[in-house]
Amino acid sequence: MMSMQIQLFLVDANCLYPCTIPISVDFLASSAFMETDTVAIIGPQSSGTAHILSHLANELQVPMLSFTALDPMLSPLQYPYFIQTAPSDLFQMIAVADIISFYGWREVVTIYSDDDHNRNGVTVLGDQLAERLCKITYKAVLPPDPTVTENDVRAELEKVQQMESRVIVLHAYTKTGLLVFNVAKRLGMMESGYVWFTTTWLSSILDSNSSLVATSIQGVLALRLHTPDSKRKADFSARWNSLSNGTIGLNPYGLYAYDTVWMIARAVKMFLDQGNNVSFSNDTKLNNVGGGALNLEALSIFDGGKQLLSSVLQTNMNGLTGPIKFNPDRSLVHPSYDVINVLENGYRQIGYWSNYSGLSIVPPEELYAKPPNRSSSNQHLNSVIWPGGTSNKPRGWVFPNNGKQLRIGVPRRVGYRDFVEQVNGTDIVHGYCIDVFLAAIKLLPYAVPHKFVLFGNGHENPSYNELVNMVAADVFDAAVGDIAIVTNRTKIVDFTQPYIESGLVVVAPVRNMNSSPWAFLRPFTPLMWAVTGVFFLIVGVVVWILEHRINDEFRGSPRKQVMTILWFSFSTMFFAHRENTVSTLGRMVLIIWLFVVLIINSSYTASLTSILTVQQLSSPIRGIDSLIISNSPIGFQVGSFAENYMVEELNIPKSRLIKLGSPEEYASALETGRVAAVVDEQPYIDLFLSNHCKFSIRGQEFTKSGWGFAFPRDSPLAVDMSTALLTLSENGELQKIHNRWLSKRACQNSGAESDQLHLQSFWGLFLICGVSCVIALLIYLFFILRKFKRHSQQASEPSSHGSSSSARLQTFLTFADMKEDKSRSKSKRKRNNDLMNGGRNSNLPGMDPIC
Ligand code: GLU
Repeated sequence: MMSMQIQLFLVDANCLYPCTIPISVDFLASSAFMETDTVAIIGPQSSGTAHILSHLANELQVPMLSFTALDPMLSPLQYPYFIQTAPSDLFQMIAVADIISFYGWREVVTIYSDDDHNRNGVTVLGDQLAERLCKITYKAVLPPDPTVTENDVRAELEKVQQMESRVIVLHAYTKTGLLVFNVAKRLGMMESGYVWFTTTWLSSILDSNSSLVATSIQGVLALRLHTPDSKRKADFSARWNSLSNGTIGLNPYGLYAYDTVWMIARAVKMFLDQGNNVSFSNDTKLNNVGGGALNLEALSIFDGGKQLLSSVLQTNMNGLTGPIKFNPDRSLVHPSYDVINVLENGYRQIGYWSNYSGLSIVPPEELYAKPPNRSSSNQHLNSVIWPGGTSNKPRGWVFPNNGKQLRIGVPRRVGYRDFVEQVNGTDIVHGYCIDVFLAAIKLLPYAVPHKFVLFGNGHENPSYNELVNMVAADVFDAAVGDIAIVTNRTKIVDFTQPYIESGLVVVAPVRNMNSSPWAFLRPFTPLMWAVTGVFFLIVGVVVWILEHRINDEFRGSPRKQVMTILWFSFSTMFFAHRENTVSTLGRMVLIIWLFVVLIINSSYTASLTSILTVQQLSSPIRGIDSLIISNSPIGFQVGSFAENYMVEELNIPKSRLIKLGSPEEYASALETGRVAAVVDEQPYIDLFLSNHCKFSIRGQEFTKSGWGFAFPRDSPLAVDMSTALLTLSENGELQKIHNRWLSKRACQNSGAESDQLHLQSFWGLFLICGVSCVIALLIYLFFILRKFKRHSQQASEPSSHGSSSSARLQTFLTFADMKEDKSRSKSKRKRNNDLMNGGRNSNLPGMDPIC
């Protein structure tokens, strides 16, 4: 059998990962090894070296296996002969991001050594955090491990102390890591309030030699490569302990080292079993380059490199670290970590992270039998003792100015002071917005020391854009008030959830048009009235034509027939016609006409109702669109975003805009016609209309927005305040505050009254009715007097001539009271007498249709 050499390249079996070897030494040593014909390399330790040597491995086609160079950027596409035999740090960074997001922190500071491995790890962590809507707010970069000094560390940690975030991820090698903790302890950064995460470097050292770790790191969370418990592993540990006399503990990298050797041994066996030979050929490219001191000419290409590489990738074995197999992307199957919490004397495991199901308190191998479940409800870790010995989860951030009071800018309002008001020239402020803010901070689980700083000259409302700018410029730590959440402001600050809706509306004057006595005519235009009237007559005539030959009710004297036509047609208006229609055509015409009358009636009723009950606009402004076309001047509240909005979004010329400072100014400008309408946010207008009844909102709200409190970008306080505002809204407190400050007043009370209709609206109708009564009575009087006169003449009783006027009045009243038939029979009798007397009087008063 052919003798075979497996080069163990720079691997310390005790593997206090990671040993610190300068790259140049590493590289020279490795190329020296390669001069002897080599079929595979285990190593290097550091990712920096791996980046360089992988090029050589590619060239010589020698598989290079490393269980410590775990830089996630060592891409198999670029370095096909380089294989990571322990899980890449990509998974470690996913685990860290998952834990940070599990605890709900949003901002993280990272401390790392400036080398390929740590820098690339932190870059990947940033990507992973971004996927979970978290971010790295500060990267504290330290010189590479061999050269780092305490001063470097102190300088960086002092900067970290100034940061808002208190969640720190330390990704470094052992020397740097321990140095950071020592300095942090001295700077008071291992106290409660801080959260420290470390990557596997800390667990490796704890496993290998825990005496190296001072008590200063209590409360730190660290990851450790997870290897399932097995008998083989226990036996190996026992063997290792007896070999090392218990002086050096075994960490997971030691187990991976062992498995890696077996992995290559099995691959070589498979390679030979497949009938392959080990042979080398000269590399002409390297010969031409001329290596000088590196002696590159001595290097030769392993002819069977490709086959051996594929044998390695086909590994399927059970090692000390558990089942070992590669995915098609060359990552190991089922990467997982233990999550450990460092305590005063040692550490305890608080759970696991697996790429399969995320965070769990049961070992990952138990989860592999179930379907993967990364839902947030399935993520669990046991309780943690945090730095400072507390078991309460730290908030993860502090107020940026380190415990000093927050400077909260509030607008010094001049109009609509119910929203924010300065109390009698003092620094005390109150109002609706202030009460909402105070109620919200009361709900936060921590104190928010703050002071209000008034912004504005006190003569007119300040510019709210400027107020928001001052938050972005760090002049204020927040701005509280009636601040609308609009796009150009959200670009520079973070707003809380809105606590009140505040879309823009148009307000214009109204007058009550139902006061007109001729309002009842308004439902129809004059033409409509005329056409309706004419149709009544037409239908009357048509029905008469169709009926009069066969229907007695449509017969009689011409005068009577005219009366029938008029009476019939107009009584259909109330469906009160008495005459029967007997012809089919007549009925057809009538039924259609009645339907038309029904529609006309109901339309009239509906229109009249709206005319009489709904206030009508006295200006042509019906909403924002008609306001824009009207070319009339428009009022806006000084300082409001409405001005910019109208100019920039609605393209209204600035010359049309008139600034108004108070509700009183609104009222006078609208009344005098200085402005045709005012455009402002709904809450101001609600307040305005509650005291000014002659105006009303025209059209719909044409923007949707709300008021919120402004905080600097990415402020965690904004997030907590949003939650508090939602709580206030859900428990009804927000509404109570609203009612306390903004409940409606005067106009609302008169609302019931304004729904009532006044005589004013109807006296036209009563007038018509009254006049027609009077006319009818006068005509009646005229005829009855005439009849009475005749009656008296005919009676020509001599006694009557000399009768008194009171007796004559009494006779007249008796005559007027007499039933017509009687007088008619009397007339008839009289007429007969007349006829007999020569027919001198032919008048028949009893036939008079009017009387
Ligand atoms: N709420 C308005 C805004 O946020 C300010 C109103 C005012 O000018 O008083 O722009």
